Amino acid sequence: MFGKYGNEEEMEFRDLKIQYQILKHDIDFAIEKVMSRADFISGKEVKALEEKLAEYVGVKHCITCANGTDALVLALMAWGIGEGDAVFVPDFTFFSTGEAPVVCGATPVFVDVDKTTFNISADALEQAILQIREEDVLRPKVIIAVDLFGQPADYGSLREVAEKYGLLLLEDGAQGFGGTIRKRKACSFGDISTTSFFPSKPLGCYGDGGAVFTDNDEWAELIRSLCVHGKGKDKYDNIRIGMNSRLDTLQAAILQVKLWQFNTYELQQVNVAARWYEELSDYGVIIPRTAEHFMSSWAQYTIVCKDKAQRERVQKALKAEGVPTMVYYVKGLHEQKAFENKCVVVEKYENTQYLTNRVLSLPIHPYLRKEQVKYVVELIQETI
Ligand SMILES: *Cc1c(COP(=O)(O)O)cnc(C)c1O
Repeated sequence: MFGKYGNEEEMEFRDLKIQYQILKHDIDFAIEKVMSRADFISGKEVKALEEKLAEYVGVKHCITCANGTDALVLALMAWGIGEGDAVFVPDFTFFSTGEAPVVCGATPVFVDVDKTTFNISADALEQAILQIREEDVLRPKVIIAVDLFGQPADYGSLREVAEKYGLLLLEDGAQGFGGTIRKRKACSFGDISTTSFFPSKPLGCYGDGGAVFTDNDEWAELIRSLCVHGKGKDKYDNIRIGMNSRLDTLQAAILQVKLWQFNTYELQQVNVAARWYEELSDYGVIIPRTAEHFMSSWAQYTIVCKDKAQRERVQKALKAEGVPTMVYYVKGLHEQKAFENKCVVVEKYENTQYLTNRVLSLPIHPYLRKEQVKYVVELIQETI
């Protein structure tokens, strides 16, 4: 129980209930408008949201779709990625990043990450590209970089590697929406970038949702067609095989309210909450490092414990006091059964292995209060 500070309820890992209470008036009103118009699919809120998202991110085109996984698949489809193509993917990420290339018939090549930022390592990436070129079985085509836990990947170095080897760069910004590098926003770093509006992501809706971003007119038009059954001049004129992947109007209406709150309050406030946690480093805990000139949108606040045993102790102690934690992620993608015989495994996953044994994600969200963070910090301090 969190009784010590007069709060009778258990702490939430990501508090969506309190967010709804704060936004209730506007969200209910937005929902009612859609309900009374009954334009549930491709209604006017969808276009309005796409314009606002493109403007926020600073790219020419935003195409919304059904979820963040589809967004990745749509990007790869637009580039014609398929059998015989190698797609480089960080080993330490959510399953979707590796799943999307396989759905397209391509082969993911899993690459080790950086130990301090958790993001794909440009050095390991270059090694993997050289290996694939040397083997001469697959054609190196795409790098998917993930903005893991909210911090943009190192796009300066990644862009250099992409250019050196003539590869396309796809930004999986499912966890990164709102993050920046020198004021430039996440979801603008890839040749195509994607995000997810899954409820617990930095910008979440009340169901599944996703979006694709690009400055390229041709790819944007292709993706608009691909997400509505490969439509030509309309939905009943089908000029290619696509999918049915749309963001519905209700979610678009909800997201407009949430984007406003995200932009005017939440992004700043979640960074304040992350700073309160920094006290943990005084007790020898490895806290997440945000690189210079980078800003995170804190999809997760992930500490690195000394070893697996310490992680288990901390997790248990926090659970006993009603503080939820999660282990993102328990294994590298190269160890997932689903990728057996469908991926290329390189020589070393040293940092992924190090991290999967030690990481622990703590509660983080814009409505977390200082005394709640203090409480978690004290509990950790007592346990380690
Ligand atoms: C959540 C997530 C996705 C997939 O998003 P969905 O909307 O759940 O399909 C893809 N990549 C990463 C890194 C994610 O965290």
